Amino acid sequence: MNIIFGPVNSRRFGSSLGIDLSPSSKQCNFDCLYCELAPMETVDSQHEVVAVEKIIEELKHHLHTKIDVITLTANGEPTLYPFLEELIDAIDTIKGSTQTLILTNSATLVDEKVFHTLLKLDQVKLSLDAVSSDIFKKIDRPHESIQIEKVIQKIIEFSKVYKGKLFIEILFVYGLNDTQEEVAKLNDVLKNINASRIDIGTIDRPPAYPVMGISYKELHEISLMFDAHLPIHIASRIHAEPNNSSYTSDEIMNTLDKRPLTFDDINLLFDDESKIKLQFLIEEEKVVTKTVGNLEFLVLQANAKRKLQKS
Ligand code: SF4
Repeated sequence: MNIIFGPVNSRRFGSSLGIDLSPSSKQCNFDCLYCELAPMETVDSQHEVVAVEKIIEELKHHLHTKIDVITLTANGEPTLYPFLEELIDAIDTIKGSTQTLILTNSATLVDEKVFHTLLKLDQVKLSLDAVSSDIFKKIDRPHESIQIEKVIQKIIEFSKVYKGKLFIEILFVYGLNDTQEEVAKLNDVLKNINASRIDIGTIDRPPAYPVMGISYKELHEISLMFDAHLPIHIASRIHAEPNNSSYTSDEIMNTLDKRPLTFDDINLLFDDESKIKLQFLIEEEKVVTKTVGNLEFLVLQANAKRKLQKS
């Protein structure tokens, strides 16, 4: 039974040491179409529970100073772990300057105990794949007790009181949540969420059910549908085909005004000449870099203070 895994180098979160809070079987309140684990009936509590002492004992063997984050995750949903608060308190006594992070599907935020426990973490990543109840149910196949309207309300509330770095993740599935209508609804909700970064991605690994992801180009088009001030970041690149498009200096400025991009995005979107023009803009300090939660974005100098504030 492997409780601790890694460290793995994650582009989004740095060097991450994982803790699997459901190491022997999948225990989840969702049964997502895109899950990289096998399909499984949903549960609303864990039946197999690992003792806090055992996790801490193993963590002590693996923890060292080069690790950026201790990531609480699971074969399933980590917030179903019944001793989460006790575990976080125990980790806090040994973690030193290492940050704590949880990757959750957000549904248990409606539980007051979980809501207050997550406030203790340095970083929280909440998933939100859809706003419309029918689309949410199709993609995430949640436990019958879960209503997306209540979850969204709690995500908004959480973002207002949380002091750490909050990341939102949206995973796009072809033909389901990738419509203009659903993106507009997500946009309306995201405007009320105080997030450090919003990662949009798609299916990168073999999914539990026969569904397809969307292309990098489509992700980029979707990214432009969101309000310009939202800190959107395209997180999936596995199936990215280089666009090699040509941009004038003005077009580069306009693009970065709408949506800050990482150097990885630039490499995919720009042809060589456009990259040289961008380099000039950087030298002239019209374009500057800004780091948000481990990632470096290119933004307009004029927007550097206005955008991506909660870093
Ligand atoms: S929430 Fe995560 S673990 Fe649970 S079914 Fe969805 S992708 Fe799989």
